[in-house]
Parts: sequence; C-alpha cells; structure tokens
Amino acid sequence: MAKQLLGKEVTAALNEKIKANVAELQGKGVNPTLCIIRVGENPSDISYERGATKRCETLGVACEKILLPGDVTQEELLATIDKVNKDDHIHGVLLFRPLPKHLDQAVIENALAAEKDVDCMTDLSMSGVFTGKKIGFPPCTPQACMEILDHYGIDCTGKKAVVIGRSLVVGKPAAMMLVKKNATVTICHTRTVDMPSVAKEADIVIVAAGRAGVVGADYVREGQTIIDVGINVNAEGKLCGDVDYAAVEPIVDAITPVPGGVGSVTTSVLVGHVVEAAMRKVNG
Ligand code: NAD
Repeated sequence: MAKQLLGKEVTAALNEKIKANVAELQGKGVNPTLCIIRVGENPSDISYERGATKRCETLGVACEKILLPGDVTQEELLATIDKVNKDDHIHGVLLFRPLPKHLDQAVIENALAAEKDVDCMTDLSMSGVFTGKKIGFPPCTPQACMEILDHYGIDCTGKKAVVIGRSLVVGKPAAMMLVKKNATVTICHTRTVDMPSVAKEADIVIVAAGRAGVVGADYVREGQTIIDVGINVNAEGKLCGDVDYAAVEPIVDAITPVPGGVGSVTTSVLVGHVVEAAMRKVNG
C-alpha cells in the first residue's frame, strides 16, 4: 500500500507559519488583505472563492470581493484592476480565469501590479518562475505540489521527474520548480509518444492533464511518488483526479488522493502569498 500524501497535513504545517506571520503584521498595525475579483457566476469559481474566503477567515486574513456581471466591459474591468492596484490596503488580488470571450484576457491579466499578483497571472510574475528572480509570486497549484514534496521529505535532487501536462498554469511552471530542486525533468503532453514508458522511468510524476483516469497501472512502477493535480467529476458525479487511484495506489510508494491532496494545499499557498505580499510591503 502506498503512503498517502495528505493535503491536510501539509496545510496544517503551512497554516502555522502563515498565522505567525499574520500576528507579526497585525503587531505592526497591518491587516493582510486579499481582493477577489469574479466576473460572472461560474460554479467552479464560486466554489474556489468559498474555499479561499473560509481559509482567509481561519488565518486572520481579510478577504474583499468585487463581483462583476458576465457582460462587464474591458474598460470597466481594467478600471477595477487599476483601482485595486492603487488601493494601499489591498495586498493580493485573485481574478478568476478564463474570462468571458469578449474580454482580452492577456491585456487584463497583465494590468495587475506584479507585487499584488498572488497567483502568477502576469507575464512578469511568470518570468520570475523561469529566472528565479523574486518578481510577483509563483502559481499556487504547482507550488502546492512542491510544498507536498518538501513536507514529506521527498528529495528531488538527481531524481527523474515527469510532468504530464504543459499548461502555463500548472505543467510548465511545475517543471521549472522541479528543475530548481535539481530533478531531471521531462514534460509529457498530448503528442508524447508512448507516455506509459516515459512515466515509468520517473521517480516523481506530477499529473496535470485534466483528464480523469489518464494515468493507469501501465504508467507506474514500484518506488514512485505520484502527485495528482487533476480535479474532475466522474460519471457518478464524484470528484476524482487524473490518476486511476484504485489501479495505481497499490503499485507506487506514495500518492496524493483526490479530493484531499493538492487542492487544499493550493488554497493555503494562496493565502500565504497574500501575507508574504504584505510582509514585502512592510519590510521593503
Ligand atoms: P489545461 O487543460 O490547461 O492543460 C492540460 C494539459 O494537459 C495540456 O497541456 C494538454 O496538452 C495536456 N493533456 C491533456 N490530455 C492529455 C493526455 N491524455 N495525455 C497527456 N497530456 C494531456 O489544464 P490545467 O489548467 O493545467 O489543469 C490541469 C488539471 O489540474 C485540471 O484537472 C484542473 O482542474 C486541475 N487543477 C487543479 C488545481 C488544484 O488546485 N488542485 C488547480 C488548477 C488546476
């Protein structure tokens, strides 16, 4: 049986550090504040918003919301971002994406000030992931994967890692973060030939394909660590990952469950970034 890498254990440890930083900030008269901007009524945005709001409350971080209609104009949304950029009491901003099709997402994303970009929405923040410079913040989900590896003492140095998925939100930054941890990294995607053999070579596999059950028993072997980023709904309406858990878990050494794995850590990473943004502002 594989060791379960549980999000709640990682989150508990992260939350302790965040609470200590919040206390320090409050001692200096600063209230770390997240501003969530939501356009429209997408159920998955609303669900993530609920989780983030609750986590902020638990950790003593203020959470403000700006809710805009689905037909908001480009000018109105840009004006909103300009306002939060200039608002000194807001330390971090989360804008749900994808945005409705009539909006120019690239222009809107890059309008946010990098120092408030707590989920790596701007090109400037993403450049920080690749250059190693402290510009903005890394994306929360791949960072949550790294937090899980760190928490459970899974050393990446010299290890072979495979990332399945090449999105800019998860796959590509996850690969760069693994390189930073001295792993030798391969990125797989829809055009990869013989993905099971490639995945089997790896010591660590991060799966972010967005396809339920894409990784089955033929992808894995004994000794591997599997981090499942996927969030899908199966035929019975239940939440499931990209990994066929029932088939893979008996074979590998360690695995994250879905739900109960990466997702919950992501929320704490986000709140941690808001607090870090406030600390950078206070401490310079
Ligand atoms: P995406 O659709 O933008 O990208 C998926 C990537 O996987 C693409 O690069 C695509 O080429 C690749 N891919 C798709 N099918 C594949 C296949 N059969 N084999 C190999 N590669 C394949 O998705 P994303 O935003 O990167 O998210 C990936 C998954 O992670 C989704 O299930 C999403 O819901 C989930 N997610 C979870 C969290 C979290 O906090 N746990 C956060 C963000 C996304």
